[in-house]
Amino acid sequence: MLYDVAVIGGGPSGAVAAEILSRAGHSTILIERKLDNVKPCGGAIPLGLIEEFQIPDELVEKKLTRMSVRSPQGKTIFMHMPNGYVGMVRRERFDRYLREKAQKAGAVLVEALVKKIDRSADRFTIHLSKDLPPVEASFVIGADGANSKTADELGFPPNDLKVIAMQQRFRYSEALKPYEELVEIWFDGEVSPDFYGWIFPKTDHIAIGTGTEEHRHNIRQLQQRFVEKIGLTEKPYLDEAAKIPMKPRRSFSQERAILVGDAAGLVTPANGEGIFFAMRSGKLGALAMIERIRNRTPLSSYEKEFRKLYSPIFFGLQVLQSVYYKSDRLRESFVAICRDKHVQEITFDSYLYKKMVPAPWSVQMKIMGKNIYHLAKGS
Ligand SMILES: Cc1cc2nc3c(=O)[nH]c(=O)nc-3n(C[C@H](O)[C@H](O)[C@H](O)COP(=O)(O)OP(=O)(O)OC[C@H]3O[C@@H](n4cnc5c(N)ncnc54)[C@H](O)[C@@H]3O)c2cc1C
Repeated sequence: MLYDVAVIGGGPSGAVAAEILSRAGHSTILIERKLDNVKPCGGAIPLGLIEEFQIPDELVEKKLTRMSVRSPQGKTIFMHMPNGYVGMVRRERFDRYLREKAQKAGAVLVEALVKKIDRSADRFTIHLSKDLPPVEASFVIGADGANSKTADELGFPPNDLKVIAMQQRFRYSEALKPYEELVEIWFDGEVSPDFYGWIFPKTDHIAIGTGTEEHRHNIRQLQQRFVEKIGLTEKPYLDEAAKIPMKPRRSFSQERAILVGDAAGLVTPANGEGIFFAMRSGKLGALAMIERIRNRTPLSSYEKEFRKLYSPIFFGLQVLQSVYYKSDRLRESFVAICRDKHVQEITFDSYLYKKMVPAPWSVQMKIMGKNIYHLAKGS
């Protein structure tokens, strides 16, 4: 059988794309290498995603409105989110739910590893593991994560800038009780010299993790130091680690194939947020694919649309990371700026709905003044 579209990778980006294509009546196969895969992930998602994709309440383990940021000197700023919350999901349940939705919409789900892709004038031949017969499809969506095989096989530009992130899961204990309803972020060079550390509570455990640019530091040592600094003596019951792309690929659309989510490098700098962008790019990519099949509209429209919507956010966070993540003195200044109520409002509004909300002119001037003051103090 010749499928209209083969979606490679059954994480959030691939599952969303497969569901939309199937719902629109296009024959779609969703190929996932491991159906019981547990993607290493903090599982923090914004309210805007929960609303847009109608994520059921039973999947959102916690709805957190309290957050704190901690500086290298141990100063902690507590914040409250008045207009929304950070949702906490567990990826093993979340991904399964999204794949089942795609199946219910008509997608064929296959468990296999994609090993090789051949391309001819009108189709792709996708070679699978487990001695399964190859799959043929007119179009391909690469949704196979940070180390995308699809991208390599189809000759997309490389994506070299990656963070290696490690996370450990701990059962609740006395030391972890204060974090039960709180998201805490650590900006501390000893925990991460170029990224940050996080403490994310779930219903029956707490996920604690940190990240650093690949090949630069020993992630295990950083994680160990983080856990020691929190004051934990108990052992984690699960260790997990994976790469996070830190930059969109130079191009992620071709004549008959696109990349979505981590495969395309669609994770914001500074905060490493990827689930929202995976699902949004899966959606935009699938809609563009439908237009391509029906009206021959080039698939580059997907990439243009994504960049138009989100480049300002990617750019803003890139600037923030390159300015404030350089040294502990600058991190200290960054945390000090977070004390400002307007800074908190702007940060939360843009996090929750991924819209850059312009502040009134007077507020912008005030924030700029504070930035200059703290930068001068920190450098
Ligand atoms: C430790 C850590 C913590 C994170 N915390 C957060 C967070 O709190 N919030 C947030 O928004 N983001 C977070 N992220 C980022 C987030 O996990 C990713 O951005 C998101 O999972 C991307 O979704 P995706 O569907 O594009 O890719 P993935 O979720 O990586 O899914 C890719 C899928 O493709 C499959 N696959 C890979 N290769 C093949 C192949 N050859 N054949 C078939 N299948 C294949 C994999 O098994 C996988 O299921 C975190 C990342 C890490 C590593």
